Amino acid sequence: MLLNEVRVVLVNTSHNGNVGSAARAMKTMGLSKLYLVDPVNEIDSHASALAAGATDVLGSAVVVDTLQEAIADCSLVIGTSARSRTLSWPMVEPRECGEKMVEGAKSGPVALVFGRENSGLSNEELQLCHYHVCIPANPEYSSLNLAMAVQTLCYEVRMSYLASQKSVNSIDPAIVDESIYPSSKQMELFYEHLETTLNETGFIVKQHPGIVMTKLRRLFNRARPEEIELNILRGILSSIGKTIKK
Ligand code: SAH
Repeated sequence: MLLNEVRVVLVNTSHNGNVGSAARAMKTMGLSKLYLVDPVNEIDSHASALAAGATDVLGSAVVVDTLQEAIADCSLVIGTSARSRTLSWPMVEPRECGEKMVEGAKSGPVALVFGRENSGLSNEELQLCHYHVCIPANPEYSSLNLAMAVQTLCYEVRMSYLASQKSVNSIDPAIVDESIYPSSKQMELFYEHLETTLNETGFIVKQHPGIVMTKLRRLFNRARPEEIELNILRGILSSIGKTIKK
């Protein structure tokens, strides 16, 4: 499974609650590989309480001494930063970060690295990353709680993963959209029918038709009715026509 290759690395976390909440955030997005670099505290009941149903992620967390160890076998490493630093580095947006993680995961482990609650990642740690990602938050208050930053970026990984699954599926002839859509000719006949009916009911005044039909065309283009649905609409128009003639 692709998401098993995406690793979340928390560096030197000081609040156990954040570790638990991060585990939970990961699991909700389908991620399970948690690495803890030199955590300040041992995992305790507070961490488990906040992990809720994700104690399995917490229980299988790998504890290492250095960031280097945590990312040793990763072909792609993206570090997080709450602000742009003096260190200028290739930056990616969260969305692109999700895409790169999923793309990279196809050929082995990849890592998303998060920093300390009080001081983030050091410049040295940031330099171990291929890219940096910054969640474009409120510039006047851009520092998210650690676990919420984990949630936000794991969500992007998931979105990208789901999109990649969808594009795989769309090649599968068994799952192609089998809806039958009307031809433009059928649509034109429908619009004629609709206009005639709206003239008959007096909704459109023949001398001042306005842009109602244009707006309705836009609406039906957007909705893209299937042939069956268009037949229902035609049936409704016919029933209105019959009632008017009575
Ligand atoms: N004062 C620290 C803030 C650390 S917040 C600093 O300026 O770096 C703790 C961690 O949460 C960060 O290291 C990062 O991993 C993550 N984080 C918080 N806000 C973020 C944001 N806007 N974009 C990306 N990561 C963020």
